[in-house]
Amino acid sequence: MGMGASIVLGAIADDFTGATDLANNLVRGGMRCLQVIGVPQEEIDLADIDAVVVALKSRSCPVEGAVNDSLAALDWLQKQGARQLFFKYCSTFDSTDQGNIGPVADALLEALGYSQTVMVPAFPINGRTVYQGHLFVGDRLLNDSGMQHHPLTPMQDADLVRVLSRQTPHSVGLANRTVLVQGADATRTHLMMLADQGVRHVICDSLDEQDLEILAEATVAMPLVTGGSGLGQALPAQYRAQGWLDTISEPGRLSPATGGALVLSGSCSQATLAQVKDFLAKHPDGGFALDPLALAEGGKQQELALAFARQRLSAQAPVLLYASAVPDKVGAAQQALGVERAGALVEEALSQLAVKLVDEGVGRLLVAGGETSGAVVSALGITTLRIGAQIDPGVPWTQTPMAGREAPLSLALKSGNFGGVDFFTRAFEVLV
Ligand code: ADP
Repeated sequence: MGMGASIVLGAIADDFTGATDLANNLVRGGMRCLQVIGVPQEEIDLADIDAVVVALKSRSCPVEGAVNDSLAALDWLQKQGARQLFFKYCSTFDSTDQGNIGPVADALLEALGYSQTVMVPAFPINGRTVYQGHLFVGDRLLNDSGMQHHPLTPMQDADLVRVLSRQTPHSVGLANRTVLVQGADATRTHLMMLADQGVRHVICDSLDEQDLEILAEATVAMPLVTGGSGLGQALPAQYRAQGWLDTISEPGRLSPATGGALVLSGSCSQATLAQVKDFLAKHPDGGFALDPLALAEGGKQQELALAFARQRLSAQAPVLLYASAVPDKVGAAQQALGVERAGALVEEALSQLAVKLVDEGVGRLLVAGGETSGAVVSALGITTLRIGAQIDPGVPWTQTPMAGREAPLSLALKSGNFGGVDFFTRAFEVLV
């Protein structure tokens, strides 16, 4: 940590792309933001940083691990002087009756010695709203939105007071919109009244940005708030009002980007498939398809991909290496190799290609796929990401220092369904 540096906001996110989503919104709200992957083991220079988001993998792991990791992150963030702490989870409140939202929030409150927090999952511009404590995705209740079928955290109840009550022994209450529309003072008074009644967790309604602004104003002095990235965008203005944060003209300003441009795609989501198609339409000779069945036969296909990329990069032409495939093809590979091995072969091939090509001078790297991004980031040994400007909602450019190289690596990590159809080309156009 830099001399005398002290951050305003310290956030603990329960997954990687959720962390980036929050960090992106904090930058949009006017904070200079760093995302760290796991709790940092070394000193980090935070001299020009206003907010740090610690990305954990605590959404679907056993409760004990989630609690311990979150407490370790809290401890580290407190040491960096964070004035407010934010526990970030998904705007669809992804959790089970065992947790992890309730147990983590309880543990954080206990460690802070504080008796109340708010729960603000809403992200109105993405269609996630809360009314009378019920979570909607678009015009459907959460339990009718598709989320009831989620493989790890099936959400079968939209009543968040009830959902959270199953995850905590403490009392759960509601700040509904009737309270919010009376303004921040009235909301604060309501929270205090609930606190007097022993209510530890307050589910908060929010239908639009204005509701989030009122909630941010009402909760800016709370040591811990919890929620989705929507609240994250509303908080920076309150920090400025408190005099904690200066007006920063370009919070997402990065160093000039240099080096070759590479796209690696291991995502088979609809949006990604359309992005691959769009890229190939614009650069018919620019893509190389990797196939797990061929990868399973040894290193030959990977060598061919590497040679292809080198040749394109030396001609300063855009290059895409992709395993992205339609469901039938993915299904066939999974049938032959098993789901895990098919995925692992792709992740490993893309990670090794990333390491080699970055070593050879790629300086602008775009990775498509949540799991794929995790594998690539870990193979490259990346631990911090400075958050830059947004490319598309939820996906910013980021930069990370590279050992042995003066210029940082510019990195955009896109999970499955994010990004417009021209994402693979436009991303590089917006990066200066
Ligand atoms: P998303 O964010 O779209 O869910 P992920 O990277 O998280 O993307 O997950 C995609 C998974 O599918 C990865 O484990 C990846 O290795 C695997 N995969 C990619 N291409 C193929 C393919 N052609 N056949 C089988 N599995 C694949």
